[in-house]
Amino acid sequence: MCGIVAYIGHREAYPIVVKGLKRLEYRGYDSAGVALLNEKKEFLVYKKTGKVSDLEASVGTQDTHAHTGMGHTRWATHGAPNDLNAHPHLSQNGEFAIIHNGIIENYASLKKALIDRGHIFKSETDTEVLIHLIEEIAKNNEVTFEEAVRMSLTQVVGAYAIVILSKTNPNYLIGARKGSPMVIGVGEGEHFIASDATPIVEYTRNVIYLNDGELAIVDNQKLTVKTIDNTIKTPYIQELEINLESIEKGGFDHFMMKEIFEQPRSILDSYRGRIHVNEATITMAGIDAFEDKLKNIKRIIIVGCGTSWHAGLVGEYLFEDFARIPVEVEYASEFRYRNPIINEDDFVIAISQSGETADTLAALELAKSKGATIFGICNVVGSSIPRMTDAGAYTHAGPEIGVASTKAFTAQVTALTLMALSIAQKRGTISTVRLRELLTELETIPAKVEKTLESNDYIKTIAAQIKDTRNALYLGRGYGFPIALEGALKLKEISYIHAEGYPAAEMKHGPIALIDEEMPVVVIATQHSNYEKVISNIQEVRARKGKVIAIATKGDEHIKEQADHVIYIPECEEAMLPLLATIPLQLLSYHIAVMRECNVDQPRNLAKSVTVE
Ligand code: GLU
Repeated sequence: MCGIVAYIGHREAYPIVVKGLKRLEYRGYDSAGVALLNEKKEFLVYKKTGKVSDLEASVGTQDTHAHTGMGHTRWATHGAPNDLNAHPHLSQNGEFAIIHNGIIENYASLKKALIDRGHIFKSETDTEVLIHLIEEIAKNNEVTFEEAVRMSLTQVVGAYAIVILSKTNPNYLIGARKGSPMVIGVGEGEHFIASDATPIVEYTRNVIYLNDGELAIVDNQKLTVKTIDNTIKTPYIQELEINLESIEKGGFDHFMMKEIFEQPRSILDSYRGRIHVNEATITMAGIDAFEDKLKNIKRIIIVGCGTSWHAGLVGEYLFEDFARIPVEVEYASEFRYRNPIINEDDFVIAISQSGETADTLAALELAKSKGATIFGICNVVGSSIPRMTDAGAYTHAGPEIGVASTKAFTAQVTALTLMALSIAQKRGTISTVRLRELLTELETIPAKVEKTLESNDYIKTIAAQIKDTRNALYLGRGYGFPIALEGALKLKEISYIHAEGYPAAEMKHGPIALIDEEMPVVVIATQHSNYEKVISNIQEVRARKGKVIAIATKGDEHIKEQADHVIYIPECEEAMLPLLATIPLQLLSYHIAVMRECNVDQPRNLAKSVTVE
């Protein structure tokens, strides 16, 4: 996920592009770059690690005079965030330049074939592969710029929003999208392209939203839209009715809400390209490389902090269920100071959204010094944890701005699910039929998350009724237990209400003393293996007059008699429950916090990336 901006018209392109990139910086911010195409048919390319302001400072007073140009603010997926990997990327002969948002999933095979045919790559990105491919197709087939782009896209698997410039065709530029957003602004003698309307809105309110699988060929006067299989489309121009403030948050009031609603997409992005349902296989380079070791592994240790530690607990259930490996889940801060027993046969998995969490890094260093194999599950490419680990898996959730983690958590759980299933397959602890069933189910999860999000208005009404409580209890069993912990943490973090997550049966050993008619008790009570037992726990709460909010399986009418409020989620495999049951708890916390007028995106005393121990 990143931001892209392009301009063609009568104005100076550079200031428009840089201003637009600043507006898009929330989408990605590890490096930025521009390519300007001037009247001498030369590219002026400037790239810099860091923020758009760092790019601006490094460009300084250098030549930026051009009426056509494009820029990119990167959120690295392939290759570390550095000047070389920053976009734009040029083709081998310097004829074409590209900016790209997304992931070219088949880049490895395309790259290998191009290298065999003599191509030399400068960066580690998937993006550079595409621009080399375009150059090769243009050369070999003697086709136009436009046709070369179209033909190359028929070979690409993955998600993209791209803009491409050609030195010898300075009068037009090409945009295309599949799975990543792209808006085209239609002005007087000028056009704009961007990831969302924020960079465009101050110049024109007339926009076209490009559809998946479409290309736009844009000069300063006219614009042609066609599909990748070459059918001309009539573009539909709409008028923007939004203010700048709201579109930066995609129309939501807070980044947290936007990120909650992004989860169908971020979960999909976290398994996309890694699962192959028909063959019942999983490709995860980090895991595949350790196949032999994993076959005989005796123990997995998962380390993390906060929400990542909760994801780790889900991981424990998954690894034990499917791969039949004993797992220990550790708070990184405790583990590192406890003189833990670690040996060379251990696999230590660190989970951290930012990849910079100080305690988690230190725990990994300790594990490494004892000879364990160390893995990372991180969201930020090129951060410290991925750099120090033997292998790992990125979560591809896109930048998470809200301090309370939402989409990063479900992306971590998705990555852990894939790891557990992949290791299970290598160890022969899961049958092909069962694996296929689970992968088929995983593919339905984004739509089920979408469905779960439809309860938002109802959840808001529940929030209104419990917002003034001073305490809350969250209960769950099995896969519902880590979710209860995560639900309680979310409420604490953003609404400052004291909340505790507990295994439902443990309630009797203490927290039950707190229950009275004032106490909301959120119970994960879906129709899975512990259903009857959880219903008994609900009865125990009711007998003490607690208010029960049940997260239940759609179609379960019986539970309505047991609970004060029922939030339904679609039926799902038990192992996928965390991916769905978390969503209503995030929404509940969000609405309560908003009603209590708390700063949802930046709760007091918290930081997004905890780089101190
Ligand atoms: N996959 C590309 C890269 O890593 C684009 C990432 C983005 O969307 O910023 O460079």
